[in-house]
Amino acid sequence: MNANEYDVILERLSRRNFLRTGSAALAATALAATTTLRGQERANTQAAEHDRSASDPGPEDSALLNENPNSNTPPPTDHGDMVPLWYSFDLVKKRIEEGGWTHEVTQRELPSSKDISGVNMRLTAGSYRELHWHTADEWAYVLYGKARVTVMAPDGLMFIGDVSEGDLWLFPAGYPHSIQGLDPDGTEFLLVFNQGNFSEDGTMLLSEWMAHTPAEVLMKNFGLGRAALATLPTAPLYIFPGAVPANTVAQDQDEIGGAKVISPNPHTFKMRSMAPTKSTDGGEVRIVDSSNFPLSTHVAAGLVTLKPGAMRELHWHPHSSEWQYWISGQGRMTVFFPVDNARTVDFKANDVGYVPSNAGHYIENTGETDAVFLEMLASDNFEDVSLNQWLRRLPAQMVQAHLGFDKTSLAKIPDEKRGIV
Ligand code: MN
Ligand code: MN
Repeated sequence: MNANEYDVILERLSRRNFLRTGSAALAATALAATTTLRGQERANTQAAEHDRSASDPGPEDSALLNENPNSNTPPPTDHGDMVPLWYSFDLVKKRIEEGGWTHEVTQRELPSSKDISGVNMRLTAGSYRELHWHTADEWAYVLYGKARVTVMAPDGLMFIGDVSEGDLWLFPAGYPHSIQGLDPDGTEFLLVFNQGNFSEDGTMLLSEWMAHTPAEVLMKNFGLGRAALATLPTAPLYIFPGAVPANTVAQDQDEIGGAKVISPNPHTFKMRSMAPTKSTDGGEVRIVDSSNFPLSTHVAAGLVTLKPGAMRELHWHPHSSEWQYWISGQGRMTVFFPVDNARTVDFKANDVGYVPSNAGHYIENTGETDAVFLEMLASDNFEDVSLNQWLRRLPAQMVQAHLGFDKTSLAKIPDEKRGIV
């Protein structure tokens, strides 16, 4: 534990003092907070001396406790019972193939997330994710390196494009596609599907279809003789090594027939390098949905950067649950949901978060570096309601009747949806 983390805990203890001065709960919750401290730090924490109720003398996994201070010892404002809000890609098994690996966080791992699931995949340079299609839309964000993607629409128009870190792609359900790692070191990316129970293992693979179709039918369909079928794969390819393409994208496009077969609709989008949708002293939000990327009719995304100490303001999403992927930094989130339920969880890179539709929440950067995460909605447009904006659009008398804020206090609340405070 470094000095800053220690200060943060002391600050939380003093905040508890403010909220619950004199209450028995204070000593208990303060003591529980300090059970994550060790050695001299534990001895130095005065609150630990007063009440044995929250003591935890048995075994503990101090690494997990130190990574999840709010999850383990919730703020006193937490209450009740909440659906699961957290999982991590670092807890799910990797399926490792020659050429890369894949693993996924779906409804099996995060049962509350019925609208969205995610896959994290790595392809080394030249390696392919086999030609395939599936029943969900595929939205992807490149976390590392470079890749070439291809996708064909039902009308036969083909898209071929290269993506690099910070870019996204969108393949509508049923559109056949491929992904290939490029030089110098392939790629790693996040896939987001608009189905909670989607599995990356349940895709239509070209190799499997061939293996399950009678040879005579394949010969008739392709107009080929039996000898030509001898090279067909006998087992699923899924992820497999290949050569980095010799062609540029333009050469590939020429080779397949040029402008008359090339899709006019871009399936890729430069998300991280776009101008911020919202920018404040506390950070930036970039939003990509069907308003600026017309193909994205089932997935809306916000790429959020929070500077240290900054916070995604109190808000909710009126018509979609939220699925988060944490790219870097750390933070905490509290989700409020009736009746009388609130739960706080901590996040680090490679973690997944979930917020039920309409549930009020904030996300606070609790670290010393930028917190960067994706806020994903299974929707055609990214909509949120800002508590600050709502309060400022109400008559002052009404706000005072509910919260007791006088006009001077009310005037200090941001009067617009800032996104980040
Ligand atoms: Mn796919
Ligand atoms: Mn949100």
